[in-house]
Amino acid sequence: MKRTVCAGGRRIEYVLIQSVRRDVLLQALPEGVTRVYAPKAMRLRDIDELVRGNAERLGALHAEVDRKLDEDRRAHPVADGSRIAVEGKLRTLRLHAGARTRADVGEKAFDLWLPHPEDEQAVRAAIRAALSRRALERIRERIAALHPAIGGEYGRVAVRDQRSRWGSCSSRRNLNFNWKLIMAPPQALDYVVVHELCHLHEFNHSPRFWARVRAVMPDYEIWKKWLKAHGGELGV
Ligand SMILES: [Zn+2]
Repeated sequence: MKRTVCAGGRRIEYVLIQSVRRDVLLQALPEGVTRVYAPKAMRLRDIDELVRGNAERLGALHAEVDRKLDEDRRAHPVADGSRIAVEGKLRTLRLHAGARTRADVGEKAFDLWLPHPEDEQAVRAAIRAALSRRALERIRERIAALHPAIGGEYGRVAVRDQRSRWGSCSSRRNLNFNWKLIMAPPQALDYVVVHELCHLHEFNHSPRFWARVRAVMPDYEIWKKWLKAHGGELGV
């Protein structure tokens, strides 16, 4: 549900999501979108009041989101001729107008067709979608190749858009991976795959866990460090 409140002469529009939760969560999203998660039983005017009372904080949260977005944009330009890393190799982005959105990743070029190649947001979304698909494909292949040496049962494999995590293994043994890994050198992606597969045996980062990782990938530390040093450069 969309609601609007006024605070200090400024209109604050927000999307209200009510659920069984107990507390209120204010979330600042890109493009000035505000989401408010609140308990079902809470009265609307109390929620409005709370949003009004947090107007200043929301302003600061939005400024931070916008600053990060701006930083990302400057770090990853997506104009025609920009360079994009795919599996550790830089390709030149070539934008084309086309009725249907389509991507073709070649050895040297990353060709992208879309209805509005001048729309930077649309270009970013199309690159992300194409790289996410490729990431899932490649991760499935690497799991198939590395799993026999590690063993253990696993559930669903998925690719997600995460800001800071490279991968995770849930208690249900589902494996999640960050799509940005497809931009890193293949060994860095392998390291994360090995890491998560080893969690099927050890749900911790104990010496036993690292011994398992090392047994499959003796030089894993290089790629662990690589991700720490360069992970922030990945993404579009
Ligand atoms: Zn871990």
